[in-house]
Amino acid sequence: MYWEKDIETISRDNLAVLQLENLRHTLAWAAKSFYYGELFKKIGLAPENVRSRADLTKIPPTTKDDLRAHWPYGFVAVPRDELVRMHSSSGTTGRATVIFHTAGDLSEWTNLLARCMYMSGMRKSDVFQNMMTYGLFTGGLGFHYGAERIGALVIPAGAGNSKRQIQLLKDFETTVIHIIPSYALHLSTVFEELRMDPKDTKIRIAYVGAEPHSEKMRQKIEALYGFKAYNSYGLSEMNGPGVAFECPVQNGLHIWEDNFIAEILDPATLQPVPDGEEGELVLTTLRREGMPILRYRTKDLTRIIPGDCPCGRTHRRIERIKGRTDDMMILKGVNIFPIQIEKKLMEIPGVGKNFLIILDREGFNDHMTVKVEVERQFFDGDLKHLEQLRKRIVEELKSDILITPKVDLVTPESLPQSEGKAKRVIDNRKD
Ligand code: ADP
Ligand code: ZN
Repeated sequence: MYWEKDIETISRDNLAVLQLENLRHTLAWAAKSFYYGELFKKIGLAPENVRSRADLTKIPPTTKDDLRAHWPYGFVAVPRDELVRMHSSSGTTGRATVIFHTAGDLSEWTNLLARCMYMSGMRKSDVFQNMMTYGLFTGGLGFHYGAERIGALVIPAGAGNSKRQIQLLKDFETTVIHIIPSYALHLSTVFEELRMDPKDTKIRIAYVGAEPHSEKMRQKIEALYGFKAYNSYGLSEMNGPGVAFECPVQNGLHIWEDNFIAEILDPATLQPVPDGEEGELVLTTLRREGMPILRYRTKDLTRIIPGDCPCGRTHRRIERIKGRTDDMMILKGVNIFPIQIEKKLMEIPGVGKNFLIILDREGFNDHMTVKVEVERQFFDGDLKHLEQLRKRIVEELKSDILITPKVDLVTPESLPQSEGKAKRVIDNRKD
């Protein structure tokens, strides 16, 4: 059940020794890049003098803006001809950042993904259909090579084109898929349009990731298709997928600490929060040569789940990501994350598969409108039922987010559907 038993179940003491060794190596390597070379000079850090992991905190965290300011090669630590691949982020929050890999980096990354997929049960005998965008986005090629390393038969389907996806699933008896959660819900509607049951496939495992989603959403996807869905977390700056992944216990994601040092910091003070408390995940690469990144501020909010995992792996677990710090909406002084709305909606029977939050400002007043797709039967019958459902949604949302949103009910498939990450919020407020 382990891809690399020794490393996955390494004792915490041995892991600490390994981390320090890799950290020292990484710092020496990073000093060769323009950015860290200058930074180390400025703060007077000599990598050869680093004696403990705590020394890492002397280095100021790296941000997406730092990567952008030294675009494109300022973080590269090897001669250009050692680089064999470039990827980029999706550009969800601004100009996309680019990451370069050596052949060694790609091999390490591939191994991490093989480790993740093997952990959840993928084997050589599986047929793996990768429904992620190929190309610059890391979810395509990353998983592709990981699955090939396990020896599965890989179908590089790419994103979108739902009818063809379903055809491929059927024709080649796909057993494992990789899919964006919001797209998984959409795809189930396409099954229904084709008068097919989404449960009527051979799929037994799905990897869902790339965007925040609640436990309720996972359960809804699992119930619709009858497979197990495992949460996959990563970001292009840390290779892409393969940073943290759910094991069969499905209670938190193991973060691969032989490859990354994970810190959870208070985003305002940048001080560590006590174990188990929520904060921003900050990551340091431990095995990357092409472009090592130290103390990268992911902007993703999570917490460490205290205690041991029954699966036997010793790498700590993070809780599913609540959202990015930039996703937080502030309305009438209340902080709200889109995932809170999603979680409530998924609990209400009759709610469909997509929603959109719209923020407006009138004078000094902010308003939130939530457009919610509801099941078709509500539009065929009694208007009273529609109104009852609307009121219920307003009440349920209000109980969680403490303000009263306007709720508009719309027909299935009428809200914009993305092939990539879902866009949950439109903010029309002007500052
Ligand atoms: P961008 O930052 O431009 O979206 P990436 O494609 O590198 O580009 O996306 C990484 C980000 O996607 C993460 O920082 C995180 O915010 C989000 N993400 C990835 N996987 C998950 C997941 N399983 N749950 C929640 N958010 C995720
Ligand atoms: Zn586990």
